[in-house]
Order: sequence, then C-alpha cells, then structure tokens
Amino acid sequence: MELVIQLTYLVASVFFIYGLKMLGSPKTARKGNMYSALGMLMAIIVTLFDKHIINYEWIIIGLIAGSAIGSTFALRVKMTGMPQMVGLLNGLGGGASVLVALSEYYKIVPEIPVTTGTTIIISILIGSVTFTGSLIAFGKLQGIVTGKVVKYPLQHPINALLLLVVIAIGVYIVINPGNADILLSVVGVALVLGVLLVLPIGGADMPVAISLLNSYSGLAAASTGFVLQNNMLIIAGALVGAAGIILTLIMCRAMNRSLMNVVLGGWASAGAEGPAAESAGPKGDVKSVDAEELAMILDSVSSVIIVPGYGMAVAQAQHAVRELANTLEKKGVKVRYAIHPVAGRMPGHMNVLLAEAQVPYDELIALEDINDDFPNTDVVIVIGANDVVNPAARNDKSSPIYGMPILNADYAKTVVINKRSLNVGYAGIDNELFFYPNTLMYFGDAKDAMSKLNSELKEL
Ligand code: NDP
Repeated sequence: MELVIQLTYLVASVFFIYGLKMLGSPKTARKGNMYSALGMLMAIIVTLFDKHIINYEWIIIGLIAGSAIGSTFALRVKMTGMPQMVGLLNGLGGGASVLVALSEYYKIVPEIPVTTGTTIIISILIGSVTFTGSLIAFGKLQGIVTGKVVKYPLQHPINALLLLVVIAIGVYIVINPGNADILLSVVGVALVLGVLLVLPIGGADMPVAISLLNSYSGLAAASTGFVLQNNMLIIAGALVGAAGIILTLIMCRAMNRSLMNVVLGGWASAGAEGPAAESAGPKGDVKSVDAEELAMILDSVSSVIIVPGYGMAVAQAQHAVRELANTLEKKGVKVRYAIHPVAGRMPGHMNVLLAEAQVPYDELIALEDINDDFPNTDVVIVIGANDVVNPAARNDKSSPIYGMPILNADYAKTVVINKRSLNVGYAGIDNELFFYPNTLMYFGDAKDAMSKLNSELKEL
C-alpha cells in the first residue's frame, strides 16, 4: 500500500505542476485549476489509506464541514472580494500547519530528534505568522481593520526582537524537548509577530502582502511535511511557496518596489491609503471632449488600443467597454486591449473583468507585447487607468514610480483619457499625460461615459 500511496503522490505532483503551468495563461487557467484540484483529490484519497489512521470519524466530519463551508464561500464571493478570500485561505493553511506541528510534538515528546524539533519550530513560527498576518490582511481588505498605514515607534526593532525571542525559545526547546509548556509561548509570540508585520501595511498594498503570505503558507506546509515525513505535503508546500514568491516578485517588479520593502512590512508611503488621495490641482491646460466629439474622432480611425485600469473595475464598466469595442470592430477598426501587470488592485484584475464581459483572450495583450505598437496606433482609450500610463515613471527620477514599466500610451497619435477628474491614482502622484498636446480628457464615470460614447458612435 505504501508504494501505491507514494506513486499516487508522484502523479498528483505532476498534476500540480502541469496545473500551475496552465495558470500562466487566461486561456488555460480554468483547466489548470481543475487539474490541480484533481491532483489534490487524488492525494487526499490515498492519504486516507495511511496506516497511521486509526479512526475515520473526525476526518469525515472535517471533510464534510470543510467542503461545505469552502464551497459556499467560493460560490458566493464577488470577484472584487477574491483577494480577501485568498488571504483568509492562506491564514487557515498557516493555522492548520501550526496545529499539526503542535499535535506531532505532543504525540512524540520527549523523544524528539533535533531535526524533527527544528522543523516543528519552523512550522509553528511561519504558520503562526501566516495565520494572524492573513487575518489582519483579510480585515484590512474587508474594512474591519483600518486600511491606513499604521506606524509606531521602533516598529522594525520590535519585530526583530520578537523574531529573536522565537528563535531563542525554539533553540531551547530543540535542545530540551521535554519542556512542553514553553512551546506555547513560541506560538504566542509568533502570532503577535504576524499581526505586527502586516498591520503597518496600507490596505491598497494588501494584494502584494497576500501573495507573500501565500508563499509563507506554502513554506509552513512544506516544513510540516518534514515533521510528518509526508512527501506530498513537502512537494505541495514547496510549489505554493515558490509560486507565491514568484508572483510577489512579479508584482514588486511591475510596481518598482523591492522585495526587502515587502518582507520588512510597512512599505508604500505613497498612496497607501487607497486611490484618489488628493489632487495637487491642474498643472496646465487640458483639452476635454464630450461623447459626441469623441465619437466623431473614433468614426474615422483604423486602430484603437484600450487601456483599462482600476476605475473601470470600480465603475464595473467592462460590459460597456466590450460593447464599445464591438461597435468599433463593426466599423472596421482594429481593437486591442493593453494589459498592465498591476492595473487595478489585484493580479489579473483586468483579465478577469474583461473575460467576464466575454472579451476574446487574443485581444488582451501584455505590456511587453504591445508597447512597441503604440506609435502606430491612431487612438488609445485609457479607461480609469492612471499610474500605469504615467510618463513620470520614464522621465522623472524623483517620482516614486520612477522605473516602473508603463504602457506607452503617450506615444500614440491621440490619447483619450476617461476618468472623473484630474485626481491622482493609487501612487498619489500627478500625471503629466493629462496635459500633453495629443491628449483629450473625456471626463465622467467609466460606465456612463462608455455607454454614451457607444450610443453616439452607433448613430454615425
Ligand atoms: P490608478 O489607481 O492609478 O488610477 C485609477 C484611476 O481611476 C483614478 O485616478 C481615478 O481617477 C479613476 N477612477 C476611479 N473611479 C472611477 C470611475 N468610476 N470611473 C472612471 N474613472 C475612475 O489605477 P491603475 O489601474 O492605473 O494602476 C493601479 C495602481 O494600483 C498601480 O499604482 C499599482 O501599483 C497599484 N496596485 C496594484 C495591484 C495589483 O495587483 N494590480 C495591487 C496593489 C496596488 P478619478 O478619481 O479622477 O476618476
């Protein structure tokens, strides 16, 4: 039986890796999810044949309750609530790792080899930090905990001290495993550390923090795998850990932030309190157009690139945008969508919204694949995006977003920007693109503005 279990784990691992690879493209992501879920189902079923299981009652109760709660939440969650749902699931994963490590400790104490003792402490440390850190992240996104940057004196020294305390007690326990009570103090201090690490981070930065916590939850699971000597848990945990850290790095690079900033917590001074902080006021003259004028311009062009951003998500304008694109395409205009990796407020935000509005995947083009096409494009329509098209990232060394790759919308013949005002975006900085000679501002809520534009265009 042991051989069958290990072979099934191997097959399940292939399903995980293949599934993860498929998540790399929106076309195959749904299938990739199914493959990974199938791998997990196989792993769970064969694990139930493990010779160490002496009683199935609690397992069945857990399976039924967990599946019922998980599927109910997953079915009911809104697309904009996905980051907090992922955050909560990471936290539960971390919490589960702590409980498993603790129970293993109490089962085998005092005969605990140094290697097992060390992995138990690592599981407890990472799992506890993930648990409370994720709960705070969830609370911030849900509006239960303040979304503001929370700063207090000696923030980093206090965190470093707590980490040292955990390590010191951990080393003591590994050397003197018989002292069971003191183990709970490791849990307590690590739980506090999780709160203190995530509390300083602004609510709008949470998607990056959640991606990092996701990676932590994988590491906690992998080290619990070492505690239990379960290969599946080690492999699955390592995959989650690696995937989470890769996503974190991609997001950091796309936002021009260093990973160290993220790991230390409390980064993001600019705009961390959310979008549209304050407008510094107009910096020059803007040319604005109304729906009728814009429709006349669009009636005679041959190529359009749509740049969606956070404002499109807020306004839920994706269907109106799709209808506008349909009308343009019927008039023979080539329409494509330029997708910035951190447009919106969560990874893949724009892809998900546009897929919901049935936009064909091959019209969604990534930044690196479309950036050279802007100079040959007649009109770029920027819909509720701001930072991701801000030329300051290229031109202004003093700008907080300097170095962040942006969509070169300003290189197009005409840039149309739809937003409600000249207000700043998430990074909290002005955008000189609004005042460029080739820019036309089309003010208004994205959904209303796109619907009006579509009606005008249809009449021509
Ligand atoms: P921005 O936050 O830069 O700008 C969004 C703009 O949308 C605002 O300036 C606002 O202007 C406008 N807006 C708001 N509501 C509406 C509405 N109803 N109709 C029309 N416009 C509206 O968004 P971007 O997508 O350009 O950039 C994303 C930013 O978020 C980046 O700085 C990124 O680093 C950050 N970020 C992204 C994450 C991700 O995973 N995607 C995670 C965390 C942060 P106005 O008020 O004038 O209407």
